[in-house]
Amino acid sequence: MNGMRQRRKIVMVGVLLMTGMVLLIDAFALGKKIHSKFQDANGQTVKADDGTISSEDDRTAEGSSASGTDKNTSKEPDTDKSDTDKPDAGKSDPDDGISMTVVDPDGPMVAFTFDDGPYSPVTDRIVAAFEKNGGSCTFFNLGERWESGMTDYIRSGQNAVAKGDEIATHTYNHPDLTTLSPEAIRNQVNKSCKLIEKNTGKPVALLRPPGGAVNETVSASVGKPMILWSVDTQDWKNRDADMVYDTAISQIQDGSVVLMHDLYETTATAVERLLPELKKQGYQFVTVSELCEYRNVELEDGNIYGNNTIKNPDKPATDEGNSDDASADYINYDDEESPE
Ligand SMILES: [Zn+2]
Repeated sequence: MNGMRQRRKIVMVGVLLMTGMVLLIDAFALGKKIHSKFQDANGQTVKADDGTISSEDDRTAEGSSASGTDKNTSKEPDTDKSDTDKPDAGKSDPDDGISMTVVDPDGPMVAFTFDDGPYSPVTDRIVAAFEKNGGSCTFFNLGERWESGMTDYIRSGQNAVAKGDEIATHTYNHPDLTTLSPEAIRNQVNKSCKLIEKNTGKPVALLRPPGGAVNETVSASVGKPMILWSVDTQDWKNRDADMVYDTAISQIQDGSVVLMHDLYETTATAVERLLPELKKQGYQFVTVSELCEYRNVELEDGNIYGNNTIKNPDKPATDEGNSDDASADYINYDDEESPE
């Protein structure tokens, strides 16, 4: 009798222990951050200025002002990154361990976005900076950088995903989508998504149209939600870490989508300085998909998001109000309730 009891007790304790462990694991998985929830949608609209220039392929970049002078020009690891030996990135962080980021849905959050990469010397630093400060960001990559043979870039992109960052598409090779046929537009998006998905195992949920250029044809053809931005750091133009830092720190507010490019060392330097400061101010760093999810924004293919701060519609607007600022130069088709 006693023996039975004893055994029963042991069994009970065992069950309790296991339940506890399962709960713990669940809690961990939950807290860890939720990625790529949104797999699809599409957007429409706008014109803005996104620097863009991808180092090694000026040919594809829309010839925008940034190009010619870009010095990052090799597909290989690159040697001009003297100031970057990022061996210690992420390591020197005491409270780091496993980056278990729990996002407070009611707290202020900002979505940093980086276009035109991956470009290992810079992408790796940015990924490390977010890991170190606890949080994630979104990279809008060019599909051609995920072609077989681009091993360094692919490794950097995969590392970003492993660290919890989001990879979305910026088309295959950066054309102005408003100049293309519907079929060519679809090819640009689909080709890039396939390459990224094949290498990361994660579905691509979002598109950032090159240059922010969108018209109704683009909107009707892309098959993804289109993400613009509300804070433009002009990092591609100024190539100046101080300027990037100052612009970002003075304009970021709750719900901002910040535009940068993971092509320039100066951008990485600015990010490494920005994150600790913003963190001190209470900001949380989330991917664009996460921001939309936390703010109950339903993403639909062909629509545009992010050109205004993304706030919770259920909450009364705070002082900052929304934005007439950054969106002033956008032609927003949203206004006329898309034709579908
Ligand atoms: Zn671009």
